[in-house]
Amino acid sequence: MTDLTPGSSKSPSLQDSGLRAEVAIVGAGLVGGTLACALAGHGIKTVLIDRLDPGVAVMPAFDGRASAVALSARRFLAAIGLWEHLAGNNEPIREIRVSDGHSPFFLHYDHADVGDEPLGFMVENRRLRLAITARMRSLGEYLTIVAPAAVAGLSQNADAVTLRLGDGRKVSASLVVSAEGREAKLRTLAGIGVTGWTYPQVAIVATIGHARPHDGIAHEHFLPAGPFAILPLPDENGTHRSSLVWTERAETAAGYLALPEAAFLAEIDARVGGFLGPLTLIGPRFSHPLGLQFAAQYGAGRLLLAGDAAHGIHPIAGQGLNLGFRDVAALTEIIVDAKQLGLDLAHPEGTARYERWRRADNLVMAGVTDVLNRLFSNDIVPVRLARDAGLGVVNRITPLKKMLMRHAMGTVGDLPRLMRGESLR
Ligand SMILES: Cc1cc2nc3c(=O)[nH]c(=O)nc-3n(C[C@H](O)[C@H](O)[C@H](O)COP(=O)(O)OP(=O)(O)OC[C@H]3O[C@@H](n4cnc5c(N)ncnc54)[C@H](O)[C@@H]3O)c2cc1C
Repeated sequence: MTDLTPGSSKSPSLQDSGLRAEVAIVGAGLVGGTLACALAGHGIKTVLIDRLDPGVAVMPAFDGRASAVALSARRFLAAIGLWEHLAGNNEPIREIRVSDGHSPFFLHYDHADVGDEPLGFMVENRRLRLAITARMRSLGEYLTIVAPAAVAGLSQNADAVTLRLGDGRKVSASLVVSAEGREAKLRTLAGIGVTGWTYPQVAIVATIGHARPHDGIAHEHFLPAGPFAILPLPDENGTHRSSLVWTERAETAAGYLALPEAAFLAEIDARVGGFLGPLTLIGPRFSHPLGLQFAAQYGAGRLLLAGDAAHGIHPIAGQGLNLGFRDVAALTEIIVDAKQLGLDLAHPEGTARYERWRRADNLVMAGVTDVLNRLFSNDIVPVRLARDAGLGVVNRITPLKKMLMRHAMGTVGDLPRLMRGESLR
């Protein structure tokens, strides 16, 4: 890995002549960072650019979220050499319990109903970022990191795409991937529109310690303001821990976030319902405004979008990053295949295939999460009665339940080879 942070000995050469790569990725978040590892690990010369200093994104105060990583995503992370860096820092999800307010109906998923492997794994985002950094160190000349550096311009011709950085430096490549998240600048520069809306909700995120073990069970409790999820984390320093994603109305969330610690914990305790024993707060509280957005196209010429730059969804089902991982797995397969065949890495059939492959899958998940959020985040009596009856029915129909579990595990559909744990070589 070559590090071109300002002040490093290599930065003057980049300034003078510009940098040339096969693929340039803008955005070193979880999606861009993973894509960089996957491509460079397959011998593709890759440049990764981010406006943030890499050290900032791994600080505990940067991102307090933990992600539910589906079983297929774990196979993908193992196939690209990342999972080994998460040993001891992942918690298998063995069961999921879904409940609605005070209703006696519930939905219970148990991994044992569909096989030996867990339904998924909880991994703290910070641990994922550290694993990406560790993997990058072994990628040698195939990966160059340019950060902090924001992208200011994009131009394309028949052979290449050139990025102009804010400080005047230039990076050219056969293909550029924007993994810049929801506010993707390259998407705007390329004239790609987005459709979407904001939800009147905010996700409050915190890590809690608790006296009783979670037993690998993820709980999703639907309340009128939105889902309240308690997600199992690995024990740390002898403390049982869980990650909370507490969806609140936007107008009341700020009040909860500003509460003194004891009062904040009391609000959490009232929603958890006491089954984890006495609670403690570990680390800071975080908040995330929620919305849905979808890019009108996934590419323009030699530019492609991946992750939240292409699709941002509600976290109700813990699937946003999993979709991003599937984008990365599909892109890697298409790019590696093109290189093996001696084709332009941005050949039109390849970019069109990426759009066809990923768009439908992402759209379906965006729709499902939107409907679930609208259906469950209210206390309208007929709607509540209908959805509770639905929970009870699904819980009793074993084949339907198994199908839903396989969807949550990400093991169905037209999966990229890396997602099935297969090698591209
Ligand atoms: C509360 C919450 C809980 C969630 N839980 C889950 C879960 O359990 N499971 C799951 O699968 N998903 C989950 N998600 C979704 C998931 O977190 C996102 O889908 C994922 O983090 C998106 O990653 P990304 O890399 O695409 O974008 P981002 O994380 O937004 O990263 C974008 C990167 O691009 C950089 N950047 C932006 N613009 C530029 C520029 N112009 N130049 C240079 N750099 C730039 C930024 O600095 C940043 O590093 C959750 C989301 C929320 C809000």
